[in-house]
Amino acid sequence: MSRAVFTSREGGVSKAPYDSFNLASHVGDAAESVMLNRMELAKRIGLSAESIFYMNQVHGAEVAEIKADSDSNFAPSVDALFTLEKRFALVTLIADCVPLLLHGPNAVAAVHVGRKGLVAGVFQQTLQHFIKHGIASSEVSAEIGASICANCYEVDIDVYEDVTSKVPAAATKNTSQNGKPCLGVEAGLITLLERSGINWSSVNKCTLHDPGFFSYRRDGITGRQAGVIWLE
Ligand SMILES: [Zn+2]
Repeated sequence: MSRAVFTSREGGVSKAPYDSFNLASHVGDAAESVMLNRMELAKRIGLSAESIFYMNQVHGAEVAEIKADSDSNFAPSVDALFTLEKRFALVTLIADCVPLLLHGPNAVAAVHVGRKGLVAGVFQQTLQHFIKHGIASSEVSAEIGASICANCYEVDIDVYEDVTSKVPAAATKNTSQNGKPCLGVEAGLITLLERSGINWSSVNKCTLHDPGFFSYRRDGITGRQAGVIWLE
């Protein structure tokens, strides 16, 4: 059995503009506040802080496999974590990108999917880890947390054309108030999930619209919420 949770801004100790449940150590928040918030996360999910694995996310497509002897003090520079180990929690940190959590029968993965990762194929690379361990994609299910919606995510036209030429399902008919096209990263990802036969669910909330979430596009300097998954 695997379990997954998505955090919001609520319930931490960080001061503005990171208020309050910021879990990221790279955004300028006080190190002690992040440590206390990470301890609070551990308490909430009933695991030790040493059993929770974070990434140094780089908007790429690489996947790190967390093994029994992996050290959670070392955050690999990847955009997906995969494990077969029980009671090791994997964390993806976001503030507009799409947090994707994948459940398999005896494996889990946490994935950071921004527009770059969508194009780079971070989901497909992660799915290959399940397949390599004998898990069919039809045995995998997906949970998607809050991310910036297709009405809010404006990009320059060259970026829009580049992303939608590679992932056509990320196209939208939306134009921002600034007259720029908007991308649907979550819709693009969902099409890839469905093409692989993966059942999915989404919380269907927008980080920019909803003040209960951190949003980089809304606030610039801000914290990160998390998607967390683990095998019991
Ligand atoms: Zn929105």
